[in-house]
Formats: sequence, C-alpha cells, structure tokens
Amino acid sequence: MARAARPGQGAQMTGDRPAAGDRTAPAEVSGVRPAPGDGTGAAGLVWRPGPPGAVGPDPVWPPVLVAEDLLEAGVVAAFTGRVGGSSAPPYATLNLGLAVGDDLRRVLANRRRVATVLGLAGRPWALARQVHGNRVLAVDTGRPGAGPAASGSRRVDTVGLGQGPPEAKPPLGEADGLVTTDPGVVLAVLTADCAPVLLADPAAGVVGAVHAGWRGLAAGVVEAGVAAMAALGADPAATVGLVGPAVGGCCYEVGPDVREAVGARYPAALATTRDGRPALDPAAGAAQALERAGVGRIRVAGECTVDLADRHFSHRRDHGRTGRQAGLIALVPGAGR
Ligand SMILES: [Zn+2]
Repeated sequence: MARAARPGQGAQMTGDRPAAGDRTAPAEVSGVRPAPGDGTGAAGLVWRPGPPGAVGPDPVWPPVLVAEDLLEAGVVAAFTGRVGGSSAPPYATLNLGLAVGDDLRRVLANRRRVATVLGLAGRPWALARQVHGNRVLAVDTGRPGAGPAASGSRRVDTVGLGQGPPEAKPPLGEADGLVTTDPGVVLAVLTADCAPVLLADPAAGVVGAVHAGWRGLAAGVVEAGVAAMAALGADPAATVGLVGPAVGGCCYEVGPDVREAVGARYPAALATTRDGRPALDPAAGAAQALERAGVGRIRVAGECTVDLADRHFSHRRDHGRTGRQAGLIALVPGAGR
C-alpha cells in the first residue's frame, strides 16, 4: 500500500544532491522524497519493469529497483523485492537468504533469476556473514590487475572468493560491508528491515555494499564503507550512495536506549510512528551518515518494508519468519575502465 509521505522525515532528509564536478550527471531532484514506487524514478531509482504487484502476482522475472543512470556509467546497482521467485511461504517468493530456513535449491534458483535480470548470470556473488558491526572487507577474485590495492596509508582487509557455484560461495567472513574494484563480482547485502546501502564511484571503478541496521549505524558502518571505497581509490565527492527499502520511521518503534544510540549520532534518524510513538528511520540515518562521509550524491528509495507487504520482506512485520531481499552492485565487465 503506497503512502505519499512518512512521518518523522522532515526537512533534514536530503534528496539527491548534485556535487561539484560530478561525473555521472543524471537528472537530479533536490530535497524531494518521491512517493514509494511512483515509478517516475525521481529518486534515481526505478522499478523495472514495474513495481511488484503492478506487474502481476507472479511475474515471469523478478522486478528490480535499479539506478538506471549508473548502468549507463558501467555499474549495475539494484535492490530486489519479494516477487518473481520460486520460494514458498513464509519465504514467498524471491527469498535470497540461505540462512533463514528456506529450501537451498529455491534460494539458488532465485539468485540465478535475479542475476539473469541484471545481466550478471554466472558472475560470482560475494556475501559476508552479517553481524551488525562496522567491519568492511575488500573482495578480490585474484585476477591479475583486477584486485583491490590500498591507496595511501589507508588499508582494507582483502579476502578472496571461495569455491562453489557462483551464487553460493561461502560467506567471506564476519562483516557488514564489502567493496571491490573487480569487474563482474556481485557484491550483495541481505536485509529484511535494515537499510541496504550501495556505493559507486563509476569513474574510479570502485563499488561497495553495506548492511545498516541500528547497531551498524551506531557503530559507523556506513562511514566505514565510504572509507573502504576511498582506500581502493574512490573519491567520496564523486561517489553515489543509494539507500534501499528499509523499515520506516512510520513503523519502527524502538526503546529509548536504541533511539539514543542512533539518534545521538544521526538526528535525522529520529522519527515518530504513525501512531505517535518514538521511532527510528534507519534509511534517514544512513543518508545522514553518507552526507557526513562526504558522499556527493545520495538517493533514498523511500519504501517502508513493513508497509509494503506485497513488495518487501520484513522481519518485524512477519515476526522473524520471512525471507531476505538484497542490495546488489557490480561493475559491468568490459565497460572500458
Ligand atoms: Zn512504515
């Protein structure tokens, strides 16, 4: 059910802010948060071929929320929804999480469907064991000249992909952020209310993905992701930061300790639920963290995972028995960098 506005998101929320000397130059909208799934792409993110539900209950291929101008710049960046897959309830239908109790074969089939839609079929997926911390890993496939290289004095731990099918590599370790300069590696973060954050400096050829729940936000995981990008040669001012669907302030009632832990650091995340209770808005917090880290362009999907039950899995709404959607990002192989 689409809603035109969410409480608790006032003027402190930023829309897409063009940065001086930006190299991607998409059409921009300042200070505007579009209605969920209005399909106009005003946030620089648009559902293709259309929002889940609008393309039928069981579309042949999964709809994805994509940054189309980044595709033109050689970066595939997308958020998945919950339709277009093969999983049964409570994981229906596009669950991409292997650790939630779903059938392994269905999850892998779902991942392959998403990869095909994004033009990344057969490319390896890199996932970490997400622990709500602030550690970020660089992913390296070991191909000569393609791996991460630390620049200056900054360093980021580097890990290689393990054995197994492209969509079912073992987790790279405990981390909540991944970065890479290696074309064709699909960085993935899995969420079901936490904010997925995708990062790209197309000209530098560096991409990243961050999993940001309240604990990760409070620990600075978003800034750590931007710093790891910079260590691989990205320029924060030229970096695009995409914040995907997450539980909204409209629905995310939290206790005073949690509210203080995040709100003290990111006042933009302070929110009030629709029925007037103290709440947090993780996406707004992630956007403020990106802004603080100097990210030049920030886009927020503005979709509440709890409200939009036909589009997204939600841990809170579904009382923990649910699937996972993903934020996915990859450098297009052979894009001429
Ligand atoms: Zn909501």
